[in-house]
Amino acid sequence: MLESMEMVDPSKVIEEFEAMTKDAERIQRETLKKILEDNGSAEYLRDQGLDGRTDPESFTACVPLVTHKELESYIHRIADGDSAPVLTGRPITTISLSSGTSQGKPKLLPFNDELMDTTLQIYKTSFAFRSREFPLGKGMALQFIYSSKQGKTKGGLVSGTATTNVFRNALYKQAMRALQSQCCSPDEVIFGTDFQQSLYCHLLCGLIFREEIQFVCSTFAHSIVLAFRTFEEVWQELCSDIREGVLSSRVTTPSVRAAMLKLLKPDPESADLIYEKCVGLSNWYGLIPQLFPNVKYVYGIMTGSMEPYLKKMRHYAGDIPLLSADYGSSEGWIGANVNPKLPPELATFAVLPNIGYFEFIPLTENPNHIYMDAKPLSLTQVKEGEEYEVVLTSVAGLYRYRLGDVVKVVGFHNSTPELKFVCRRNLLLSINIDKNTEKDLQVAVEEAAKLLAEEKLEVVDFSSLVEKDSSSEPGHYVIFWEINGEPSEEVLAECCSQLDKSFVDLGYVSSRKVKAIGPLELRIVRRGTFQKILDHYLELGGAVSQFKTPRCVGPVNKVVLEILCSNVAQTYFSTAYD
Ligand code: AMP
Repeated sequence: MLESMEMVDPSKVIEEFEAMTKDAERIQRETLKKILEDNGSAEYLRDQGLDGRTDPESFTACVPLVTHKELESYIHRIADGDSAPVLTGRPITTISLSSGTSQGKPKLLPFNDELMDTTLQIYKTSFAFRSREFPLGKGMALQFIYSSKQGKTKGGLVSGTATTNVFRNALYKQAMRALQSQCCSPDEVIFGTDFQQSLYCHLLCGLIFREEIQFVCSTFAHSIVLAFRTFEEVWQELCSDIREGVLSSRVTTPSVRAAMLKLLKPDPESADLIYEKCVGLSNWYGLIPQLFPNVKYVYGIMTGSMEPYLKKMRHYAGDIPLLSADYGSSEGWIGANVNPKLPPELATFAVLPNIGYFEFIPLTENPNHIYMDAKPLSLTQVKEGEEYEVVLTSVAGLYRYRLGDVVKVVGFHNSTPELKFVCRRNLLLSINIDKNTEKDLQVAVEEAAKLLAEEKLEVVDFSSLVEKDSSSEPGHYVIFWEINGEPSEEVLAECCSQLDKSFVDLGYVSSRKVKAIGPLELRIVRRGTFQKILDHYLELGGAVSQFKTPRCVGPVNKVVLEILCSNVAQTYFSTAYD
């Protein structure tokens, strides 16, 4: 893998991908065989009675479908220092912490060299397709990437978020060079312990190397929006640092200061130019191409729970295209975006048949959105137009692991499916027969936020809650909004009723009509509330790079709920069904 990363030839990568996807079924069988041979000595597999068999039929007959809960005790044993082959043939030495935004706390997951290899393969594949459509010149990338706190488990294993484990891997930097994606910020900034300081320095590095920036990216789009929202507040300070060649006193970490001071020289000409460009912009529209004259695109995961940030990204990007990045998780990678020209709303992910063994649980939906499961299908058995839950057998010790993501097969690339991400499987809002997912919530928020757009205001971020504590009252939905300004009370009251009307699932509408669900409540939280939620996750060991705003807060997210509830400034109740 290392040699090939030193000389990435996009046409060769595409050729290999084409050959592999034409033969997806055979490659899947071979991949499963290799995983089971490499890890046959692991306790978990030995206990399943496979007796050396490595074919998909025996595998699916012997090994049960599991969720993280069933594997937790095995992973904890590994983290606590059991060096026997528990889940993998070769002992696991690194643990990944998933962002844990849906469960309220990070999940522990195994990370190994094989998983790193699949990461590089995904990067390489999507880079090849991207550079065919959008070739890059010589230069650098402005990457808003951040490491989590890296710690040690009780048993002495290195632990950090999956992205941190990737960024710290020796192969990562080499790969970034080979993929023309060298980060303009020094390592000290990426691995800085204070995320606000790192963010400021990423922006400053971007401005210092502004002519060389070829693209702007982050792991999840949230970090890009957060970065340019911050830019709106600190741009004058950034200009003054560049003008004087003196680093702002807000950067206090000695290693970060030292690294930044090596790059910073007084440059009044550049500072004046940036200043003029900022003053000349109307409401920051097209900020990115103004600051970075050679930028070709903005790149990051923009699908799923990142879709609500698209509007703001388009605003900052102006006429520069937004390219959606690949689909994966701390558990393992799934697919690469091989159609980079498609807008993020239509982005699909072609499954790489050699990075894991994949199964898909068909999900049939009845009118109340209740998913009925059926027997899992193999990668090449899935049907276009159908929705499935992804089941992953990874190269890092997860076998028939239900990922909890719902995807739709929207076509095929040769014989491998192209998936569209639909949503996380766990239901968000449900009181009785109503069932609303993250996607339904997003659509309702978009609909109601149109009323704010008329006043040139926007929803910065949002979350929700089911309130049903009093037995005498019917339960009702609560939506939390942070807004970048102060709309009138009339407008907010209208937004509240519009939110209520925009949940159109039959269970909700009929329950509202008969008052089995009470009027929807809109709670406006103070500016900076969602930043406090992010800070809370960073405290728990999460990383900004993998942060996803929890879209529904329940009892498992007690602290987040407290942050939201203690910052409520205004409350409205819907009159939609009065
Ligand atoms: P984590 O392991 O905490 O970083 O989160 C992984 C989860 O993020 C996946 O299971 C998906 O739900 C979501 N995710 C990752 N990549 C994408 C993508 N390209 N589009 C939509 N959601 C994604």
